[in-house]
Amino acid sequence: MGAATRQLDGPADHGSWPVSVAEADWQRAYRLWFEHARGCEVCKRGATVAQGCDEGQELWGGYRLARVGGGRQWP
Ligand SMILES: [Zn+2]
Repeated sequence: MGAATRQLDGPADHGSWPVSVAEADWQRAYRLWFEHARGCEVCKRGATVAQGCDEGQELWGGYRLARVGGGRQWP
């Protein structure tokens, strides 16, 4: 379990490196949720995602989907 801290330099276009594209997908999804939860009164006060608002749960669902989808590409 190494901390993969790969970063895409330059524009976030889909490059020819599928691994980092998959990583960027779930990282972006997580950031979307995180930024929403930080500014959302409901999500901010909820102890868990399930206590957040509908939008927060939807964003979290997208993050989980992206993680599952990305993980499936790993052998
Ligand atoms: Zn929210």
